[in-house]
Amino acid sequence: MSLRYVTVLGSTGSIGVSTLDVIRRHPDRFKVVALTAAKQIDRLANQCIEFNPAIAVVSNADGAKRLSELLRDKKLKTQVMYGADALVTAVTDSACNTVMAAIVGAAGLVPALAAAKAGKRVLLANKEALVMSGDLFMNAMKLGGGELLPIDSEHNAIFQCLPANFTKSPQSHSEVEELWLTASGGPFRNTPITELVSITPGQACAHPNWVMGRKISVDSATMMNKGLEVIEAFWLFGLPLEKIKVLIHPQSVVHSMVRYRDGSVIAQMGQPDMRTPIAYGLSWPERIDAGVGQLDLTQFAALSFSEPDFERFPCLALAFEAATLGGTAPTVLNAANEIAVEAFLDQGLPYLQIPVVVEHVLNSIASTPAGSIEHILDVDTQARESAHQYIRQISG
Ligand code: NAD
Ligand code: MG
Repeated sequence: MSLRYVTVLGSTGSIGVSTLDVIRRHPDRFKVVALTAAKQIDRLANQCIEFNPAIAVVSNADGAKRLSELLRDKKLKTQVMYGADALVTAVTDSACNTVMAAIVGAAGLVPALAAAKAGKRVLLANKEALVMSGDLFMNAMKLGGGELLPIDSEHNAIFQCLPANFTKSPQSHSEVEELWLTASGGPFRNTPITELVSITPGQACAHPNWVMGRKISVDSATMMNKGLEVIEAFWLFGLPLEKIKVLIHPQSVVHSMVRYRDGSVIAQMGQPDMRTPIAYGLSWPERIDAGVGQLDLTQFAALSFSEPDFERFPCLALAFEAATLGGTAPTVLNAANEIAVEAFLDQGLPYLQIPVVVEHVLNSIASTPAGSIEHILDVDTQARESAHQYIRQISG
């Protein structure tokens, strides 16, 4: 067992807090060396007081000033920094060997890439890094020589169901017929389509099984989340898109499965608690206590599975379309979706307009090769502008 020095990018978020909860249980195994957050300064201050990291990063100078004030007289070694470059510093200059990439959205891409290049063990929760820059990110991992542990529960499940070293041994790929990503179907799986017109942010964020950040909760309701996960799986496991399937499984007990050519299907099951995949990523290949209650299968009358309904979930269809187009299309999809979800949460964009906005932007920006991070970020900006503009147009 080697000591893991951990940087938690996005430590105040849902994944970040769960990560620190696992770490807290194992002071003999894990030391926190850097923590980062955008705006929740009070929470970050409390985390710094508990874990005494070498570096703490916030978004802007005001936040840094406030954090420094909160940490004054606490006798900590923590150096307070701010800005996007400081997120990279938290990865490269903190003496960490392990990085939890749990910033939400495109903002997490550059620091995650820095962790890949630097050969760290990367615990990847930020799916956008793969959706937007899968090719670059996987190459950076290869060149950096570090270990990539997927944290998204479905991908972590598949990782557990695949043979060791699967991604490094292409000859074993022919043994796998399909990856089955399970999806709960979200809160509106059975809501009559006519009632979706008046869905509020509160309803969309009330996920039946998982407690998550607001953005990903809406993505679960529209199933855009599963669409992004299909693209994420494509890059992580190196299998053709046709081998990646989505299954609706409302109980969220089976977190995903692998179907092999000999007829075997291997599934990973557990409570819907992100601390299980987080603990697995932190301690792999060992297993540690994650603080998660045991799964009691007798509590479930049945486990059910069905095909997704692409009419009910147009965002899922759009994600498959973007995945098939490749290049920068997934970046456009993701950016347009982020803006549409934000507009739904904060500006009253109707729920059913989310896929309309995404489709419009996806059709208006041609896909180009995702050859460099600069180009990807340019396209990301362009897609966001286009989404804003279209939302103004349809709301005006
Ligand atoms: P969250 O909104 O709860 O937390 C996001 C974190 O990122 C916070 O610490 C926030 O301060 C930070 N952040 C936000 N914007 C930032 C910016 N511009 N610059 C720097 N930091 C910023 O989100 P979450 O639910 O914890 O999700 C984090 C990531 O993990 C997402 O990519 C999500 O898709 C993925 N994920 C989450 C879950 C889950 O159960 N929550 C499951 C699978 C994957
Ligand atoms: Mg997931």
